[in-house]
Amino acid sequence: MSTLFENIKAINRRICKSAMIAERDPSEVKLVAVSKTVPVQRLIESANYGIRTFGESRVQEALSKIAEFESLNTEHGFSNISWHMIGTLQKNKVKTAVALFDLIHSVDSVALAYEIDKHALKAGKVQRILLQVKLSPEDTKHGIAKQELLETLAKISEMKNLKCEGLMTLAPYCENPEDCRGYFRELKDLLKKAKEHGFDLKELSMGMSHDFEVAIEEGATIVRIGTALFNARGDPTA
Ligand SMILES: *Cc1c(COP(=O)(O)O)cnc(C)c1O
Repeated sequence: MSTLFENIKAINRRICKSAMIAERDPSEVKLVAVSKTVPVQRLIESANYGIRTFGESRVQEALSKIAEFESLNTEHGFSNISWHMIGTLQKNKVKTAVALFDLIHSVDSVALAYEIDKHALKAGKVQRILLQVKLSPEDTKHGIAKQELLETLAKISEMKNLKCEGLMTLAPYCENPEDCRGYFRELKDLLKKAKEHGFDLKELSMGMSHDFEVAIEEGATIVRIGTALFNARGDPTA
């Protein structure tokens, strides 16, 4: 049996199990299959096993892959395929990103939001976005400082062609995923606070291959999983 199929089954099982542990409905957790660097043929194969949402981190790579996927898909006819942008977005790539992605997870400044709003207006689209929040001190992690979250949400709520649906974060790599729990809890608390201030947000995009179970226990509604699906054998004991 295909390893990819085994991996998808194992991940789905682990998502369900973590949701049950947290007394959550597993259908509240959406799996984004992170497909950066993965060849299109593998994406078609994963669509065959039920994957419908792909996460890409570079606009240029996504542009050619989505075109190739769509041309192959005329033969397969998978419906409801959705593409998410999860990587740092450069302003000069915004126009293409708006054309390609259903959800942009990585909005990390008001200036970027403004640029997306501008191109969404031109494209006649309301662009769904998440705000990326920087919780980890590492310089490599982008995002809005938590102190600036409410102010940023207020500015974005005035941009008519954006729909901000929630928050995203990248936890630092923790040898033991338990050590990331604090970051996930912090993002959940920030979402709660934003809701108390009247912002209509619901998504928490957090958790990757090595820490998604902890993220789900802390309330993740979207997990972004690459390696555990495409590059590694799923944990057979899960
Ligand atoms: C690559 C990437 C992921 C997936 O990471 P894995 O460890 O391969 O599951 C998730 N989120 C972002 C922003 C990424 O760039």
